Amino acid sequence: MAGPLAEFTHDDVHLLGFSRAGEESFVIAPELNLAFDVGRCDIELLGVDHVCLSHGHMDHAAGLAYYFSQRMFIDNAPGHIYAPAPLVEPIQRLLRLWADIDGHEPPANIHAAEPDMDIQLRRNLIVRPFRVNHPCRRHDRSTVHALGFTAIEVRKKILDEYRELTGPQIVELKKQGVEITRRVEIPLVTYCGDTAVGDFLKRDHVRNSKVLLLECTFIEPDHRARARAGYHIHIDDLADVLPRLNNEHILLTHVSRRTALSAARAALKRRVPPEIADRVSFFMTHRRKRRPAPPSDT
Ligand SMILES: [Zn+2]
Ligand SMILES: [Zn+2]
Repeated sequence: MAGPLAEFTHDDVHLLGFSRAGEESFVIAPELNLAFDVGRCDIELLGVDHVCLSHGHMDHAAGLAYYFSQRMFIDNAPGHIYAPAPLVEPIQRLLRLWADIDGHEPPANIHAAEPDMDIQLRRNLIVRPFRVNHPCRRHDRSTVHALGFTAIEVRKKILDEYRELTGPQIVELKKQGVEITRRVEIPLVTYCGDTAVGDFLKRDHVRNSKVLLLECTFIEPDHRARARAGYHIHIDDLADVLPRLNNEHILLTHVSRRTALSAARAALKRRVPPEIADRVSFFMTHRRKRRPAPPSDT
């Protein structure tokens, strides 16, 4: 198991999860009833109804069948997975194969997520999928492009010219079919999954998201070529990228276990000025489980 989870809170965004390259990655936003990727399906994921899957690599997707199966056994309603469209059929096939092995085929809602086709989760909450820079070669040599996702709160704001109106006046205008509000989008949290840097970082909902989860798989100077070959971010890339982002906080995910957290922090500080580094942290386990106090002798 992943062990204790990383936890992060900023304003009204609360995240819980684990993300290490090659091991597993998942991020849960419990208050939004939403998760990004399933990793190996930690027990914390079972209470979440909506899971956005970035791509099919095992460290992000291994727990899919377990997720649906365990939810069935604890009598939760079938969950919803939103996956890159080419993965929908193989995931359905995976669940049928597990039924051959396990004897049960749990109910499952598997939806195709397409870039820029918003997913309506609740009246005031949407998820916007977008293409990142992490092409995955399949067995049949076709390519599936990984997706990132932004959770966006949608509000209606009354237009300035109608601000002073009384209740009855508003009712009257509504009756006449006058639109007195405008739609406002507040990007809360963006998850980029695995990706090299790319144009997606110029998108408004990505760069203005309150919290941005961005991968940074490689830290060591001699791993730049590996980062490029695998379509991952190397910490050297961040010196260019971070100054262009407006996010209130940036969480770096998917760091390889080879790198200690203290070394990763030091490497970041060497590359970006302090006012930027202050907004950036690593989404890693900071919390250590307290050991029970030893029995006293007296
Ligand atoms: Zn990965
Ligand atoms: Zn990957």
